[in-house]
Amino acid sequence: MAVVGVDFGTLHSKIGVARNRGIDIIVNEVSNRATPSLVAFGPKQRAIGESAKTQETSNFKNTLGSLKRLIGRTLQDPDVAVEKKFLNATLVDVGGTVGTEVTYRGEKHTFTATQLAAMYLGKLRDITANELKTAVTDLVIAVPGWYTDIQRRAMIDAAQIAGLNALRLINDATAVALSWGITKTDLPDTENPRHIMFVDVGHSSMSVSVVAFSKGQLAVKAAAYDRHLGGRDIDYALLQHFAAQFNSKYHIDVLSNPKATFRLTAGCEKLKKVLSANNEAPLNVESLMNDIDASSKLNRETYEDLISGVLDRIAAPLQQALVESGLTIDAIDSVELVGGTTRIPAVRNRIQAALGGKPLFTTLNQDEAIARGATFACAFQSPTFRVREFHVHDIAQYPIKVCWERAASDPDDDTELIVFPRGNGIPSTKILTFYRNQPFEIDSVYAEPAGLAGGINPWIGRFKAEAVPPDPSGDLTCVKLKTRLNLHGIMSFESAYTEEVEEREEAPMDVDGEAPKKKRVVKKHEIAFTTTTSSLDPAVVEKLKEQEAQMHAVDKYVMETEDRKNALEEYVYDMRGKLDDRYTAYVQPAEREKLLSMLQDAEDWLYSEEGEDASKSAYVEKLDALKVVGDPIVARFREAEERPKAMAQLRATL
Ligand code: ATP
Ligand code: MG
Repeated sequence: MAVVGVDFGTLHSKIGVARNRGIDIIVNEVSNRATPSLVAFGPKQRAIGESAKTQETSNFKNTLGSLKRLIGRTLQDPDVAVEKKFLNATLVDVGGTVGTEVTYRGEKHTFTATQLAAMYLGKLRDITANELKTAVTDLVIAVPGWYTDIQRRAMIDAAQIAGLNALRLINDATAVALSWGITKTDLPDTENPRHIMFVDVGHSSMSVSVVAFSKGQLAVKAAAYDRHLGGRDIDYALLQHFAAQFNSKYHIDVLSNPKATFRLTAGCEKLKKVLSANNEAPLNVESLMNDIDASSKLNRETYEDLISGVLDRIAAPLQQALVESGLTIDAIDSVELVGGTTRIPAVRNRIQAALGGKPLFTTLNQDEAIARGATFACAFQSPTFRVREFHVHDIAQYPIKVCWERAASDPDDDTELIVFPRGNGIPSTKILTFYRNQPFEIDSVYAEPAGLAGGINPWIGRFKAEAVPPDPSGDLTCVKLKTRLNLHGIMSFESAYTEEVEEREEAPMDVDGEAPKKKRVVKKHEIAFTTTTSSLDPAVVEKLKEQEAQMHAVDKYVMETEDRKNALEEYVYDMRGKLDDRYTAYVQPAEREKLLSMLQDAEDWLYSEEGEDASKSAYVEKLDALKVVGDPIVARFREAEERPKAMAQLRATL
């Protein structure tokens, strides 16, 4: 079983695998360790990851990013309105969730955000399978700690649509902590843990966690977030600045033109990175709009002024995490930074200032710590890969309650109960007790909707007991309900049952004549129930999985066709060249004429309308026909030139 961990980033994703007794971050088809988190739709096939990035400028209307931020959301969600600022594709409602409408293979198609994430996960699966030369089925995916039940379930659905089984959704910050802790051999005893604060500022989001480490374990003490604070907000501030500047300098309204906006944003990101290491940086965008080559520059001081709105928000999550951990800053042993945006000196300064001048460390690989942690988490679940025992105690970010309608039989009954408070351990099981004599329903919801990711539905699930058996005594029946907050951070109703206590005689009278011992045996009687959650129906998952497999097959076919076309083209040029060169002595004039004319025909065909866009088998057939004539020539050449050489070599070694 392959052991795989994925950091599903807003901008880029990274894949870790366990091999050679360690964890490696693997490279994609163009040898990059990070793969753009993009899915694009073209006239013939989809482009995902690197290939989506390559065509982004020319096809930005059909290119989707922000995948992890759209999944599990609705079109009306205020957070989705924020996403629109950063997206060029059209967002639409698809059956109550946010999706997109794109032009794919010449037609309009809609896809849900869950499907888009599935497409992307499928690409990561292919990259991994290609690298490991084995099928990939199980993986651990790192998600933001602020993800709610709906988002987590949607991510698991997405994995399933891609034919993947998410063994665990691990919170980003917890994955970072895990990759920090697991290599430490000098961790203290539990009474005296070492406290580390992890700060991740990425492309779209900031997270802070305070984690206690002791021998063989970590415990998350507190975590706080700003869901809208990252590198892209800085790019956006720069975009506004330069758009205004170019308006007066060149009289162009960049923001009115999506393509120019897109290209200027890319220029701003580049400039931002240069400014992390230099006091001044140039900005050049060729032919930005109306054939104008726009250029400008920016110094650090002005830059930091321009982005002060973003910088000013850095302190809040740091302070919140600290307060909620119950620790003073002095009790924090060190502060570790990860995420691309912590490379900005001004960001570091703000973090340090908010933490009373505490030194900041980057002992972890800033870009890869999450993927490494997720891979360790996957290794824990793997029977084949041995890792050191290390316990991860994570906590629930949002309190969850169950609520119900007051039973007529019990007017004094409460109607709600907090089951998993904020900070509750993950995973966790709780048994609730209800007294009922009728079928009944229980809903689980987030108890404090105001604290949730903007506009997200606080509803989690509904439990419905079909029939409650009467209690023999005539009283209300005591129904036990087992609820669970699982390893993914998802809450579910696991079982419902009544208990019957029986006193059984242990054994028949023994030889000494003592009375038989009585033993209390609790017998469980399951109660039939149904649950409804935001997870997709298994039948729907199956259908979407099929659809995904079809699109994947098309992508593969188009790629192979392209490959065969290139092979034909290459043969034509290569053979023609060699006929005038090394093959000259091995070809009859008539044969030569024939082959040259065939090569010419093939070339003409390749550039004809038909040959430009033919089927894979057509390219294969053409090439095979050429080879029927060409192969004997090649064989003669080899026989005459290569065999003597080989023989000579052989003799030399004898
Ligand atoms: P998120 O964690 O928010 O989902 P992500 O994981 O994709 O996003 P990262 O890879 O951590 O994000 O960081 C990407 C961001 O870091 C981008 O905005 C990028 O421009 C920025 N970045 C990377 N290197 C530098 C640098 N040297 N200076 C400034 N910013 C940088
Ligand atoms: Mg990240």
